[in-house]
Amino acid sequence: MTDTVLPQRRSEIMRNIGPRNTLPEIYIRSQIHRMGFRFRLHVRKLPGTPDIVLPRHGKVILVNGCFWHGHQNCKKAGLPKSNVNFWKKKLTRNQKRDQENIAALVGLKWKVLTVWQCELKNAGQLDRKLKKYLGTP
Ligand SMILES: [Zn+2]
Repeated sequence: MTDTVLPQRRSEIMRNIGPRNTLPEIYIRSQIHRMGFRFRLHVRKLPGTPDIVLPRHGKVILVNGCFWHGHQNCKKAGLPKSNVNFWKKKLTRNQKRDQENIAALVGLKWKVLTVWQCELKNAGQLDRKLKKYLGTP
């Protein structure tokens, strides 16, 4: 199998946001696809390369891993036991970058919804949240 991601791009991916195409992201994509929406993935020309973009609706969905993005008050988001300072710095930087990206997107008139990995535990609630945000196709 050939690896189509350049090493540099890969380290960028790992550094910035953790892996793409995570399980939560795949789940959400299939849900909104079933709801009848068209969307684009990982749009690099927008701030932060948002995971899911619905250009026609002016809406963006960010699917965040709780650990990488430092979900507050979340069990999945605790700091590792070793290299605490390293991780603290890194995750704080990720959170700051998320905030900056959201602000930049909003500045460009995009609506932004953040979905956290842990929200997949309650699929019914998550589906309602997505429907409420997206409205009708
Ligand atoms: Zn969480």
